[in-house]
Amino acid sequence: MTLIDTHAHIYYEDYAENIDDIIQRAEDQGVEKIITVGVDLKSSEECIQLAERFNMVYATCGVHPHEADKAPKGFLYELEDLSAHPKLVAIGEMGLDYHYNFSEPKVQNRVYLEQLEMAKALALPAVVHCRESDKDVLKGIQESGNDSGVVHCFASDLEFAQSIIETGFHISFTGLITFVKELEEVVQEIPLEKMMVETDSPYLSPKPHRGKQNEPSRVIHVADKIAELRGLEREEVAQITTETALDLFSKLGDCIQSS
Ligand SMILES: [Zn+2]
Ligand SMILES: [Zn+2]
Repeated sequence: MTLIDTHAHIYYEDYAENIDDIIQRAEDQGVEKIITVGVDLKSSEECIQLAERFNMVYATCGVHPHEADKAPKGFLYELEDLSAHPKLVAIGEMGLDYHYNFSEPKVQNRVYLEQLEMAKALALPAVVHCRESDKDVLKGIQESGNDSGVVHCFASDLEFAQSIIETGFHISFTGLITFVKELEEVVQEIPLEKMMVETDSPYLSPKPHRGKQNEPSRVIHVADKIAELRGLEREEVAQITTETALDLFSKLGDCIQSS
């Protein structure tokens, strides 16, 4: 059985001391690959460093909505440079977060749209963060004409999920589905081939590890919950979500690895 944790922030300081153990535990649980996701230029570079250090780790580069108003002029050029790395598989995370509004919504929207357009131009999938911003996230995808990406850490309703899928985008689930009842309908109704699994480590630790720091090995609990809700075996969910991830993040498959 193989799983892909499609979204984790394992460059955090808290992980630094035992990163080897965290990678090993993930492998022991059948996690084949981990995509570590940048939220600004510095963390994007750190993601690439981890990808260079560990065979199973891949990176993204992007500017998170929380960081949008700190993005330096010319950040798109820097992202474009980073995106040429062989283990850089997506642009993001980008998006809109109106729950916290750490950056002004107007700035969030500009930085989001610029990255959606750049991802499209570079033919790389977009990793999108969406919190209390469904309408504008969807509008951005539609207006950019970008049809390749994922709305990660899905936390909204079935109607929104279906509109996202209509654009060509995918949906990815975190440990939230193990304890948020309202999400069960979405897991049950959307096509299995449109969904992926992630931990969003260090956040959102799934049941039965709630309250503890999350890590990629726990992605198995997300797959198990999907299996339970769909009446499938864990292995089937692992296989289908892995195929979807390999298909969407196509650079996962074609890079030559040195160890
Ligand atoms: Zn996010
Ligand atoms: Zn994230």
